[in-house]
Amino acid sequence: MMPVARVSGVDVKPTTRARMKRQLVGAALGVSVVNGVLSGMDGQEATVSRAFDVEFGLRVPRPAIYDDPANGGCRGERKVVATAYAGGTTKRTELRVLYFAPSDMKVIGRAAKTVLRPSGRIDVLVALIAYPQTVGEDATALWTAAQARVNAEHVAYARSIGRRDAIVQFANTNVFIDPRSDRVTPRNPTSVREALTRAGARLEAFDILMTIDINPLESVGGYALESESAIYVGNVARWKEPLDEVAWQRVAAAAYNHEMAHHWGWDHDWSPTCGRSHPFGEFATSPILLGWTDVDGDGVPEIRDDTPYGSAIVGQSASPIPPAAREH
Ligand SMILES: [Zn+2]
Repeated sequence: MMPVARVSGVDVKPTTRARMKRQLVGAALGVSVVNGVLSGMDGQEATVSRAFDVEFGLRVPRPAIYDDPANGGCRGERKVVATAYAGGTTKRTELRVLYFAPSDMKVIGRAAKTVLRPSGRIDVLVALIAYPQTVGEDATALWTAAQARVNAEHVAYARSIGRRDAIVQFANTNVFIDPRSDRVTPRNPTSVREALTRAGARLEAFDILMTIDINPLESVGGYALESESAIYVGNVARWKEPLDEVAWQRVAAAAYNHEMAHHWGWDHDWSPTCGRSHPFGEFATSPILLGWTDVDGDGVPEIRDDTPYGSAIVGQSASPIPPAAREH
């Protein structure tokens, strides 16, 4: 008969008991036991774990830490960054972020907010403003190919960490809007929603509203409007003629890798990069900070893990911070 530990009158399964025992051993010796192997707990890991407890009342035994001594080739202030996604629904989750000074690992910043979960199927409704000058006849083929390429990158990443299925996949619905016949203000999500409704789109079925606005008369960047669940990408390269394959890929990268990552809670200072080579492939930041790696060694990426970062996280839920507009 399998022995069952009893804690406070609650039956605890052997697996849970083993995990509790590991945690007790770790707490007593300052070491962590992962997959039965006793290993010295990294001093930085222990410091970060303690900080999550102090700052947020969260138990994060195996935190996700990004520490780049080269600071991505940037001259600005270097920070060590740790993130924890926990709780929420299949679509939304609570994110906590801690920033540390590399010299003494003192907490120098923190953030807590409710974000779009960087996991699973994300339904995107795309309003593509069809300027004749920049959106050519082959735009549908090139744009959908660029979108497929983004999804393929997520599949490739999953394969690289031994998973069959991608952690994130985008389900896209593209609606072309003629700026001449349908009066629309592309930078106003309400106006775009109205134009999409006139075009017959069902807005409630989507997680993100994306506006692709390659206006030949403008030169503007992109932004994520978290309060509107909206992404806008403008004419980032001052295109004056129909976009080719590479140009559409650049638009897709700005929309799905950069602006989308802001909806997942990413900020530019998580992992700055100033050199020519981008260390995260197409992604905006290190996969570890988005929960896309298996930090605690249980075989499941943290964003998909029922016991993320080494244990079920218990504690007060972070008080959500009102979403803000970002322009970058
Ligand atoms: Zn940005």
